[in-house]
Amino acid sequence: MEKEEYKEDSTCETRNQPNSCSQQEQQAQAQKRLEANLSHIKHRIMVMSGKGGVGKSTVATNLAVSLSLEGLEVGLLDADIHGPNIPKMLGIESRHVEGSVNGLIPVQVLPNLKVMSTAFFIGHHDEPVVWRGPLKHSAISQFLGDVEWGKIDCLIVDLPPGTGDEPLSVAHLIKNVDGAVIVTTPQDVALLDSRKAVTFSRMLSIPVIGIVENMSVLTCPHCQKEIPLFKTGGGEKAAQDMRVPFLGRIPIDPEMVADCDRGTPFVMSHPGSAAAQVFKGIANRCAEFIRFKETEKKANLERFPYRFKMHEVKK
Ligand code: ADP
Repeated sequence: MEKEEYKEDSTCETRNQPNSCSQQEQQAQAQKRLEANLSHIKHRIMVMSGKGGVGKSTVATNLAVSLSLEGLEVGLLDADIHGPNIPKMLGIESRHVEGSVNGLIPVQVLPNLKVMSTAFFIGHHDEPVVWRGPLKHSAISQFLGDVEWGKIDCLIVDLPPGTGDEPLSVAHLIKNVDGAVIVTTPQDVALLDSRKAVTFSRMLSIPVIGIVENMSVLTCPHCQKEIPLFKTGGGEKAAQDMRVPFLGRIPIDPEMVADCDRGTPFVMSHPGSAAAQVFKGIANRCAEFIRFKETEKKANLERFPYRFKMHEVKK
């Protein structure tokens, strides 16, 4: 949809007249804005996990930075509404989000990387985001719909953890998600959670790009022996059981914790480390996946020009 079109029929523009239309009308407008703002994004990749604390945001951040360093134009959306940590991880917590007539402008972090997060709209770092019940879906949709991404190659979405209402809302609203990267830790309980995440993606018809096993082993700084703090191999076993690709094993690196706290992307500050090599491998697999999707789309376009022309015109 063209932006002019949106302006013309924006009689229900919630920012100007908050009480002048019904909730359904507001939601329909938010969905239109969302589609318009997402229409210039070529590919959408979700990063998800069966539960919190497994390193989902760390993977999303380092994946986005790696892809942008490879030359892709990347957007990183921190949709983890209850724990939006990405601005902290990238050292942009104090940056202000600018607005334009068409919406909110994401914060530029690197020449090829822009970021939007709910964290930018929370008054104080210690304040939790309390978005309840039926309001939650419309609040998420309004937030997502207001971001003006412009033309980018790939949007990386850091989903809220788990397989409940919130990740479901975000995945539904983003639409046409190309693929999902599932992050897990190696122990048996995490294995169960990552299986749920694979099932969740399949239920939404989102292809699983693969499973990443994070916090796999710690290399002792004294004797260089590998210590499997949380066991090892669970991610690979889950991938085999669920018949999805395994993307790699990220070791525990204390420098990663320090970098997260300092706001420095790990792949940039420790490019030669074992963990950074795994991040780069994951980014390469995602880039390959994107190229495959593009070839597939082109082939379909040639085989079924009419069907796909409709789709192209809408975009
Ligand atoms: P989630 O998004 O799943 O809740 P985060 O990405 O916020 O998890 O990570 C939680 C904490 O674990 C952060 O402090 C992060 O620096 C740390 N962390 C994540 N992965 C690793 C790793 N491989 N080695 C060391 N620390 C890690």
